[in-house]
Amino acid sequence: MRVKFVAGNWKMNGNLASNEALLQLLLPALAEITAVETVICPPYVYLSQARPLLRGAKTALGAQDLCQYGNGAYTGGVSAAMLKDLACSHVIVGHSERRALFGETDDLVAEKFAVAQQAGLIPILCVGETLAEREAGTTEAVVARQLQAVIKRSGAAALRNSVIAYEPVWAIGTGKTATPQEAQAVHAFIRGRVANADRAVADAVRIVYGGSVKAANAGQLFVMPDIDGGLIGGAALVAEEFAAICRAAAQKQAV
Ligand code: PEP
Repeated sequence: MRVKFVAGNWKMNGNLASNEALLQLLLPALAEITAVETVICPPYVYLSQARPLLRGAKTALGAQDLCQYGNGAYTGGVSAAMLKDLACSHVIVGHSERRALFGETDDLVAEKFAVAQQAGLIPILCVGETLAEREAGTTEAVVARQLQAVIKRSGAAALRNSVIAYEPVWAIGTGKTATPQEAQAVHAFIRGRVANADRAVADAVRIVYGGSVKAANAGQLFVMPDIDGGLIGGAALVAEEFAAICRAAAQKQAV
């Protein structure tokens, strides 16, 4: 059985006061949800703020990105070692906003995935198609290409210590969620691709869905056989909403 996994991606939002208020409400609620693995991913500059608040909590700390290089002359970069130093256990790589707005290629994402794992971080690898790609019928080809870059760089076995997030770009922050059936079809496809390389890894790896997940639609998504949780953006900034999504994951865990 794969334990459900829910991560909150705060994106570039928040400030000291709002983070404190959010975590004060969120952490007690999450403490009661034991059947699900939860992670919050604040912006880099607030990791140090979140770290002491998470001490002793079941919820883990993650970052939204990392630099592909180790410590050195890379102005503005944040290394895997720095994230480890701040007690991060997870890091998002290849979020569609990084790919689209910051020009991250499949190879760069694969490198970041490898560097994160080498440092002992668990990468949350985002894959997903744009609306144009979906309409052109290339969803599977796009997702397969994004996944293959990581398999080529790190090997299929490396996926065992990762989480794959299927995030259709057209569903991120748009309020347009993939239907449970649409999402399930792509999740099954991803698991099948992994299985072609390594059956045991395919059975074990968590594949979570991201794209306008809310408390109101989370349960229908999480009940699907290949949807192992969610990567949550907007709703992760509202304590009760995020907690309700995690509760929905916990309920579906029991099914
Ligand atoms: C995300 O940022 O990864 C995301 C899925 O955002 P939202 O939940 O707001 O669509």
